[in-house]
Amino acid sequence: MKILEIKEKPVPISSSIQNAYIDFSKMDVSVVAVVTDVVKNGKAVIGYGFNSNGRYAPSGIINKRMIPRIMDAKPIDYLNEDGTNLDPFKLWKIMMTGEKPGGHGERSVAVGTIDMAIWDAVAKIEDKPLYQLLSERYGDGKPDDKVFVYAAGGYYQPGKDDKQLQEELKGYLDMGYSVVKMKIGNSLEEDIRRIEAALEVVPSGKNLAVDANGRLDLKTAIKYGEALERYDLFWYEEPGDPLDFELQAELSKHYKKTMATGENLFSMQDVRNLIRYGGMRKDTDYLQFDCALSYGLVEYMKTLKMLKEYGWSSRRCIPHGGHQMSLNIAAGLKLGGNESYPGIFEPFGGFADDIAVENGYVGLPDIPGIGFETKAKLMKVLYSVAK
Ligand code: MG
Repeated sequence: MKILEIKEKPVPISSSIQNAYIDFSKMDVSVVAVVTDVVKNGKAVIGYGFNSNGRYAPSGIINKRMIPRIMDAKPIDYLNEDGTNLDPFKLWKIMMTGEKPGGHGERSVAVGTIDMAIWDAVAKIEDKPLYQLLSERYGDGKPDDKVFVYAAGGYYQPGKDDKQLQEELKGYLDMGYSVVKMKIGNSLEEDIRRIEAALEVVPSGKNLAVDANGRLDLKTAIKYGEALERYDLFWYEEPGDPLDFELQAELSKHYKKTMATGENLFSMQDVRNLIRYGGMRKDTDYLQFDCALSYGLVEYMKTLKMLKEYGWSSRRCIPHGGHQMSLNIAAGLKLGGNESYPGIFEPFGGFADDIAVENGYVGLPDIPGIGFETKAKLMKVLYSVAK
C-alpha cells in the first residue's frame, strides 16, 4: 500500500466570540486529507485531520515541508512491518526530518494536523474505532465506554450581559453537561459579578470552571485567586502566560484549590518543564495539552510516558480543543475527560450527531476511524478538501 496524495485547505471558523486574549472572527484551521490506495467497501480509505481552534491554519508549513517530505519517502519507510498499514511513528519522523529541536511554534500544529489524519486512516484500514485500536495497542484493551466532557463557553461578546451568560450556561446544563466553563480576565470586579451570576444557575462552585487564557500577571493572578478561593470552583484555568512556570509555581502557594493549564504547551519538552518547575499538584490539578496543536498523538504518547515517570496519572489530563481525536485518546488511553464547545467552532467541535451528553459524559460511535463520518456538517467540509 501507499499514500497516493495529501491535500490541505484552510477553512474559516468564523465566530464573534472573544476570550480575554483574542478575537476569533478572523480565525481559520487547516483541514488535511491523506488519500491511500487501500479500498474498503468499494471506496478509497481517506484519513482526515484538522488543527484545533486557537491557532491559525499552518498551510505554508504543511504544504512546503510536511507533505513533500512524506510524498518523497518510499512506502517501505512509512509502512508497518508487514506493509499493510501506515506507521504513524515512522511518518512522524519523516515529517520532522531537518527540523531543529525547540522553538515549536506553528510547526507543532502542522504536524499535529497531519498526524490526526494518519491515525484516522490507520484505524479505518484496521476497521476499528480509533479508541479501540489505541486501547488494544497501547492500553489495557478495555477502552472507557464514555468520557467526561465539560461545556466551554461563557465568552466575552459585544453586548452580552449577565442574563445572557446565565441563559447560555443553563442551556449547557439542559444539554446534559454537569460542568460549564466561562472566560475571565478582563477585570476582577466585572468577573466577580459575572461569576456570581453564573453561580446562580449552576448547582455549585464545583460545576463551574473559569479560564483566564494566560492574561494575568502574577500580582493579578494572586488577587483573582484570593477572590475565587471561596467559590470552590471546578478549576481556575491558565491564569498566567503559559510559559511562565515560576508564576504558576508561585500562584500554587497562594491558591490551594484546583488549577488547570497546558493548552498552549506544544511539546513533551515544554510539558516536562511545567511538571518540573510549574508547581503543579498531581492530586489536585489538571493538564490540558491538545494533541492537534502539539505534534499529534505520537508526541502525546511521549508526554503521557513522561507524566507517568513523574508520578502523574493519565486521568489528570483533560485536553483542550473539544474534538473527536482527543475524545478517542481519552477513551482509549484513559484520560480524565475532554473539553467540549457546544455550538461554537462548528463544524469542527462536538461529537457524534446522534450521541447525546448525559450526566456530563458522552459515548463514542462504533465506526472505523476517529468517527468524523458521524458528523454530517463536518463531513461536508472534509469531503470538499478530499475532492
Ligand atoms: Mg483555555
